[in-house]
Amino acid sequence: MSAAIYIVEDEPALADLMADYVRAAGFVPTVFGDGALALAAIRADTPALVVLDLMLPGLDGLSLCRAVREQSEVPVIMVTARVEEIDRLLGLELGADDYLCKPFSPRELVARIQAILRRARAQAPAPRPEQILAIDAASRRALVRDAPLDLTPSEFDLLAALARRPGQVFSRAQLLELACQDKLDIHDRAIDSHIKNLRRKIDALAPGLDPIASVYGVGYRFELQSA
Ligand code: CA
Repeated sequence: MSAAIYIVEDEPALADLMADYVRAAGFVPTVFGDGALALAAIRADTPALVVLDLMLPGLDGLSLCRAVREQSEVPVIMVTARVEEIDRLLGLELGADDYLCKPFSPRELVARIQAILRRARAQAPAPRPEQILAIDAASRRALVRDAPLDLTPSEFDLLAALARRPGQVFSRAQLLELACQDKLDIHDRAIDSHIKNLRRKIDALAPGLDPIASVYGVGYRFELQSA
């Protein structure tokens, strides 16, 4: 799906030129010549990016940028007619993602748009391990891919203790202390059999997930590959 780019610019010739280049780069441009109309449109249907001229009828670029930022993280490229204005704009901390000074080449504009969208994609959150394995300490429930794990209290405590610190290696003694505080009858090696049962139960719901790794000679570590 092509990304929608809103171009807010009241000089029709410049707006058309920008729209042509943006379209040629594979985006879907929409031009607004009025700040208030642009704000209404951004609120109604968030585009992938907004190119925003500073001087506009209806609502100026500064106010528009602030209004957008109050409710949206949509990337904004601010366009200004004077290079010395950029310092002032930066000082206002408007939350714009980039600044362009007129006259600029439409190619430069397209390059900036592409760079910002690439960055935004790279920062998009990866699926979090919790979605594969969710542990709710309050209700003492663990879900694997939304299916409930049927765990004994000790198994739950062990899993929760390990998952709380992914990547950290725990010794059996540490796990005993973290997970089995008030179960004094549990002995070091019992951890191994609890882990074995945990692995079996998780594997039954998500074959191959195997989030509990053995660390030879030390203990165990929780690690989820986000596959
Ligand atoms: Ca203008």
